[in-house]
Amino acid sequence: MPFQINKTPVAPGENKLIKLNVAKLPSGTVISIRVHVFRSKNPGPIALFMGGLHGDEINGVETVRRAVKEGLFEHLTSGSVIAIPLLNVYGFINFSRDAVDGKDVNRSFPGSVKGSLASRVAYTLSQSILPLVDFGVDFHTGGSSRYNYPQVRYTTGDAAAKKLAEQFAAPYLMEKKNLEKTLRHTAAGMNIPILVYEGGESLRFDGYSIDHGLKGMQRLLFQQKMLEIDAPAHHRPKYFSKFTWMRAEESGMFMWMQSSGAKVSKGEVLGVINSPHGNKEIRVLAKQDGYIVGHNNAPVVNAGDALFHLGW
Ligand SMILES: [Zn+2]
Repeated sequence: MPFQINKTPVAPGENKLIKLNVAKLPSGTVISIRVHVFRSKNPGPIALFMGGLHGDEINGVETVRRAVKEGLFEHLTSGSVIAIPLLNVYGFINFSRDAVDGKDVNRSFPGSVKGSLASRVAYTLSQSILPLVDFGVDFHTGGSSRYNYPQVRYTTGDAAAKKLAEQFAAPYLMEKKNLEKTLRHTAAGMNIPILVYEGGESLRFDGYSIDHGLKGMQRLLFQQKMLEIDAPAHHRPKYFSKFTWMRAEESGMFMWMQSSGAKVSKGEVLGVINSPHGNKEIRVLAKQDGYIVGHNNAPVVNAGDALFHLGW
C-alpha cells in the first residue's frame, strides 16, 4: 500500500526525498524539513530515525545523515524507514538547542498549526510523520557542555520500548519517566514507542557516540527483520534505573578525574574544583557506587552546576 507524506505518495519499493515546509524566516526564506523515505517491496514495520530535534545536538544529525549517505536503508528486506537528519532547522542555523522563539521543540509537542515556531515544528512532525510510524529512535546529545556516554533511554513501564532498547543494544540502557509535551510522551499516547539515544555533547562531534548510534540502528533493523546484515555485537549493555547528579558545592575551575563510562565507588574522588586564586580546592566525591553516565566538560562552573550524572 502506498502511504502519503505531504500529499506525496510513496509506494512499496520506492525511495523518495520529501520536503515539509514549516514557516518562513523574516527574510522570506522558506524553512523546510527534509524527509528521506525508504520502502522495501515487502510489508513490515515503519521506523523513524531522527536527529536535530535540539538544533545544536549535531551528533544526532551526523548519525542519521551518515546512515542515509552510506545507504544503510537502501536494502531493506521488509518494511520502511523514514529518516530525518535535521528536524529543528532554526536551532541548527543559530547553534541553539531551541527554535528562534526561545522555546524547546521537545517541550512543545504535539504542537499547534498557529503556535510559535517550536510548536509549528512539533506540529509538522506530529501530523505528517507520527501517524505512519510503528517505532522510532530520536538522536540527542548532552546539553551545555555535558557529555553523555552512549545510551538509550526508554519509558518506565513500556515493555515494547524496553524490547526495542535491547535490540538497539547501546552500551547503557536507561529506564526513565516520560516528561509531558515531549515527542516521546505524544508518541506514547499514539502507542508508538520512541527511544531517545544520547551520545556526546552539543556542538561537538564525537565519533564514539556516532559509531554506537549507527551500529544500534543496524542492530535494531536486523532484529526487526528489516535488514539482512547485523552490526558487530559488543559487550552486553548495562541497565540503569536509578540516577543522581553530583553538583558543584562552590564556583571555580572544574577538572574531572573520572569521566563518562567509568565505574566508581562511593567516596571516590571524581574531580576537583579549584579557586583561580590558588587558595582553595574542593574535591567532588561519588555519592554512591555506580557508573558515570554523563559528565560536565565545562572548565569553569558555578555553585549548583551539574558535574557528574551517576546511574546504578
Ligand atoms: Zn536533546
